[in-house]
Amino acid sequence: MASAGLFRKTRFAPTPSGYLHLGNIFSFALTAALAERTGAGILLRIDDMDRERANPDYIQDIFDTLRFLDLPWTEGPQDAQELESHYSQRHRLNLYKQALDKLLDSGLVYACSCSRAQILKQSTDGAYRGTCRHKGLALDTQDVAWRLNTESAQTVSVKTLDGTCLNAALPNDVQDPVIRKKDGFPAYQLSSVVDDVYFGIDLVVRGQDLWPSTLVQLHIASLLKEDHFLNTAFYHHQLILDSHQRKLSKTAGDTSVHYLRKQGCSAEEVYERLGKELHLSGPLKHWRDLAFLLP
Ligand SMILES: [Zn+2]
Repeated sequence: MASAGLFRKTRFAPTPSGYLHLGNIFSFALTAALAERTGAGILLRIDDMDRERANPDYIQDIFDTLRFLDLPWTEGPQDAQELESHYSQRHRLNLYKQALDKLLDSGLVYACSCSRAQILKQSTDGAYRGTCRHKGLALDTQDVAWRLNTESAQTVSVKTLDGTCLNAALPNDVQDPVIRKKDGFPAYQLSSVVDDVYFGIDLVVRGQDLWPSTLVQLHIASLLKEDHFLNTAFYHHQLILDSHQRKLSKTAGDTSVHYLRKQGCSAEEVYERLGKELHLSGPLKHWRDLAFLLP
């Protein structure tokens, strides 16, 4: 069992591309419960790199929803203004650039001109088939993404809550990940690693759907020689599925907390709804009630 003083800092890392839903809340609730048990602080890290999708309403919704559900954080922006002035990912562009430069030095970065449609045509699962890997396109070509060649990637070791390690190979869907997007900004897998290193995160709680991301982020961190990140403990939790056995998405309207609040639900009622989605036998009225689910 993960005990007090074990971890220094974990994080809530929402992307403001939709209203927070019960799946996000489940993840944050487990994060809060685990942080409380282990004495870790919680950073609120809003992934706002993608300005086109980062709608101001969704940013405000993050602050409103966390406060409404009594989900605490000890570091990071208190409101949208502080996000803009101090914590936005736009303030860390030079850190991402330094990381990109390091990866360039490794000789494993190449330019890819494929469109999303072309990639989907080549593989039904959306995995990239390495089409441009050996084309030798110049990195400064207009409208190309930068990818990291993972052909020679070794098995990745993931530290778990109890300190033991799981070893796994990079799954197909994260092979040759994009590290710089066509718009010139860093891609999620890279900015996430850089941010977690920068803020000193040593505990990451996320859904099982992000297991491939964990593996590719650890691979990127090993190329960057970020030993601290390689020592991060990861806890991957079950997902809340809808009636079609699909994971909840940001467009899943009736499971958004925004929607539930508009229907007049109290915080307790939102947690009760979460308990129902999880098929819990006992009552769930607060995030602390989820502590029993933790290993
Ligand atoms: Zn390509």
